[in-house]
Amino acid sequence: MIIKDFNRQSIVSPEAVAAYVNALPRAHLRGLQTILYKPAHELRQLHIPIEQSCKGAFFPEFQSIIIFNLVDKSLAPHIIYHEIGHYVFHRVINSYVKKEWTTRIYSSSPPVSVYGGRNPVEDFAEAYAFYAQDPQLIAKNPVKQRFMRNKIFSM
Ligand SMILES: [Zn+2]
Repeated sequence: MIIKDFNRQSIVSPEAVAAYVNALPRAHLRGLQTILYKPAHELRQLHIPIEQSCKGAFFPEFQSIIIFNLVDKSLAPHIIYHEIGHYVFHRVINSYVKKEWTTRIYSSSPPVSVYGGRNPVEDFAEAYAFYAQDPQLIAKNPVKQRFMRNKIFSM
């Protein structure tokens, strides 16, 4: 897996990005090709559609994540882990675990963030991002915290 072009921005060092990624279970990164930084205006020039409210995107066809807005240093790990959370949901966990999240766990308690309220997939990415930083950040959602601990971060 290649972490690329984070030296093109100054919000967070490439070393810090590598440290965030390396703190995750190895299984979560299996098959992931690239985590790339590319400014939003360059993506627009390439006609790659990006949503205004998004800071990054996972491109399943390339098994790659592009981060285009790190906002500030304190939010950078959340933004990176959120996109890796999408990768884990789409490519790493099996269909039973996926189904358990979407049918039972998602609706067991309120979304872990406003953004997570959009749908089960965003709520998973948000729960993943919080748990990866500190499991206590989703302590108010014990069912989701337990799911992250037992089904996702035990891999
Ligand atoms: Zn997302």
